[in-house]
Amino acid sequence: MQLSSPRLRAALLAAASLTLVAAVLPPPEPLGIGDTLFPQLGNPGYDVLSYDLSFTYKDNKSPLDAITVIDARALEPLERINLDFTHGTVAAARVNGEPARFESAGEDLVLTPASPVAPNVPLHIEIRHTSDPRGIADGGWVPTDDGLAMANQADAAHRVFPCNDHPSDKAYFTFRITAPAGLTAVANGMPAALPAPRAAGATTWTYRTLHPMATELAQVSIGDSAVVEATGPHGLPLRSVVPAADRKRLEPWLQKTAEHVRWMEARVGAYPFENYGVLIAKAKTGFELETQTLSLFENGLFSGTGYPAWYVEAVMVHELAHQWFGDSVTPRTWSDLWLNEGHATWYEALYADGLGKYSMERRMREAYQRSDQWRAAGGPPAAPKAAAPGEKIGLFRPAVYDGAALILYALRQEIGEKAFDRVERRWVAENEDGTAGTEDFVRLASEVAGRDLAPFLKPWLYAKTTPAMPGHPEWGGPKSV
Ligand SMILES: [Zn+2]
Repeated sequence: MQLSSPRLRAALLAAASLTLVAAVLPPPEPLGIGDTLFPQLGNPGYDVLSYDLSFTYKDNKSPLDAITVIDARALEPLERINLDFTHGTVAAARVNGEPARFESAGEDLVLTPASPVAPNVPLHIEIRHTSDPRGIADGGWVPTDDGLAMANQADAAHRVFPCNDHPSDKAYFTFRITAPAGLTAVANGMPAALPAPRAAGATTWTYRTLHPMATELAQVSIGDSAVVEATGPHGLPLRSVVPAADRKRLEPWLQKTAEHVRWMEARVGAYPFENYGVLIAKAKTGFELETQTLSLFENGLFSGTGYPAWYVEAVMVHELAHQWFGDSVTPRTWSDLWLNEGHATWYEALYADGLGKYSMERRMREAYQRSDQWRAAGGPPAAPKAAAPGEKIGLFRPAVYDGAALILYALRQEIGEKAFDRVERRWVAENEDGTAGTEDFVRLASEVAGRDLAPFLKPWLYAKTTPAMPGHPEWGGPKSV
């Protein structure tokens, strides 16, 4: 039989070569970048430059229709491209404009492009899929009383959209969210276009980050929300998102943000992003989360019952401090999480100390008394215990919060307040918009102190038991050398 049309012939040849590729390649398997705590998180072979995420929302019990567009750079020849993605159905995938085969392997979405991708060329990936907010509360979409919010830390962004789900691969984000009439959608970063009317009264809202961001820090809020705008220090735009009906009641809390930013800037330097605000969601999350430029809080924290005002403010400062420690400077591996939580806890404790409610010294003395027990349960702060096989890791243990703030306290005791202050400022300035790890922190502290601090810091970071606290022999613990 003769093929009559060149186009048909080309199509058949392309199909044949796809079959050929499939016949040669072994079955797809989930890959990772070697994070000891999340071995299958992230993927080798490429660097994501930007995500362009479109979501069409109906209600918080239905899968959203989504298009994820990824611009990346291949770092090596790629016959396959692994992305992290689960909890959604893929309808189509294209790589550099050509249809690509797609299969699931574990929590990876494995794309096989029509022809292998060469290194150092632009890599453009488009995936049409759904994003399902239903299911076990294990991160990703968080259903609220009036819509959705997002909580991806540490490993749940890929329950929402296909991505390279590891904080070591930061990228720029654009969000396009279409929601029915009466709802408001907000995401990280700045509005990139005016809200655009769609059919049947729906609206598309577009936001763009001006700084790179880790997938775990993405935030999309859809609900019956009020957006409250104000101006912070040196003209910083403040933008908070609250349930519309609670706006009046919550406004006194929102007004505290400008002062919180001023307080942090006086300690560590300029706020690192384009805007800031709090997202107060009608949900019971059991946590607050430092999503970049728009920290997520549960409504109950501000209900006026159960929590004293100084505590609420200290928690607000904790999430704000993360914008420097964790968001602008993201951890290179999840074992470096103590750098996020240790610093956020440090400034939370310092703020409470300043309010005269709970002194830093008392908090650190109490942490010191429990530190050995925390290390036994969760591992030392910079080497958290891995999960048992098949078990999800409980990464957010006391050892990486107060147990890690204790390391900073020990460092300040050892090198003095002035040097400690320089370490903090240089850490966020020199690693801005980047990723950094424990070794980098030890190196910087040593440089500032003018002597090798590794022998002092290593036991604080990695030992099974807590070293002696400089300047506090009365706290007990091992004898100072
Ligand atoms: Zn935190």
